[in-house]
Amino acid sequence: MKRASKKAHSTRIYRGTPRNIALLARALQRGEPVAVPTETVYGLAGNALSPAACAAIFRAKGRPANDPLIVHIHDLAQLDQLAHRNPAVEKLARAFWPGPLTLVLPKKDIVPDLATSGLPSVAIRMPAHPVFRALLKKCALPLVAPSANPFGYISPTCAGHVRDSLSGKIRHILNGGDCAIGVESTIVDLRDPRCPVILRPGKIGADEIARVLRVRVAAQKKRRAPATRAELAPGMLSRHYSPRTPVVLHARLTPAIIASLPADEAALPLFSSEKLTPENVFPLSEKRNLQEAARNLFAALRALDSSKKRWKKIHAELAPAGVAAKDRALAAAINDRLTRAAAKA
Ligand code: AMP
Ligand code: MG
Repeated sequence: MKRASKKAHSTRIYRGTPRNIALLARALQRGEPVAVPTETVYGLAGNALSPAACAAIFRAKGRPANDPLIVHIHDLAQLDQLAHRNPAVEKLARAFWPGPLTLVLPKKDIVPDLATSGLPSVAIRMPAHPVFRALLKKCALPLVAPSANPFGYISPTCAGHVRDSLSGKIRHILNGGDCAIGVESTIVDLRDPRCPVILRPGKIGADEIARVLRVRVAAQKKRRAPATRAELAPGMLSRHYSPRTPVVLHARLTPAIIASLPADEAALPLFSSEKLTPENVFPLSEKRNLQEAARNLFAALRALDSSKKRWKKIHAELAPAGVAAKDRALAAAINDRLTRAAAKA
């Protein structure tokens, strides 16, 4: 048997031309991983029906095998290949797909156990990014695509972020520009359509889902501390999306708090303000717009984490409770990611 080569891959970024999409579709069909743009964050895609392709994704990310992958589809015919539908699926698909919503459903046997970490359910999303959709269509395969970053680090929101952290580990990165949303999809457990449960907050909120399904949608179940590590449910690690620099959370980063920070600690307020001028302040939105703040969040954490200034701490501001109704879900998503970025373990 040929021994696996330890040689690093040379990594190339491709523009989304029809020729490149055809070339990368063939790479996926051969079982190779390809980093792809989505409207949420960049993903590391592989053939969802191939255990070897799924294994290559876990390997490139250093992702533990007990953290299941999301399968991305081009159309609803593919969903029927992978999972058992219920009437709620069609309603949510009509309202939110293609888009940043992932549905957990009972899986069919065709989905390898590796993709779902042995669970009897599978997470499925139909993404909206036109370049990724073109690739999904061309390769005609469902694709697993966890975020294209080393496990536990900050998710990538542009092709350069993927190259920065996976260079040498993968060959192909498909460039689709900056991600429009900037935080990962909302995940809903829809196995029982009478009581859907949000497993991960994202841009689409419980209220919107409840309005479409006309049932109560539970927010994340309260997490019982696991007795052992092996008992940890998938994706429930509290530390995630984490820079190496320690993150300190603030309900509000007032000008007074910012003025009191040492010069070697950085402040990450949500919004800019005329009162803020010091060189250690990096507002997430100039326009005081939460969507812009979400779009910039991961890029800002990465930039501070790799800055030559070697910041000792990053002081981040949580989204306030009183945001406009249309931004409430995104505020919860931002706060979820910041809380995990700041978690010690
Ligand atoms: P990502 O790292 O963005 O690809 O998201 C994958 C996350 O989706 C995992 O960490 C889990 O939290 C969740 N997930 C995937 N598949 C399942 C499943 N079958 N049941 C519950 N959660 C799932
Ligand atoms: Mg991830």
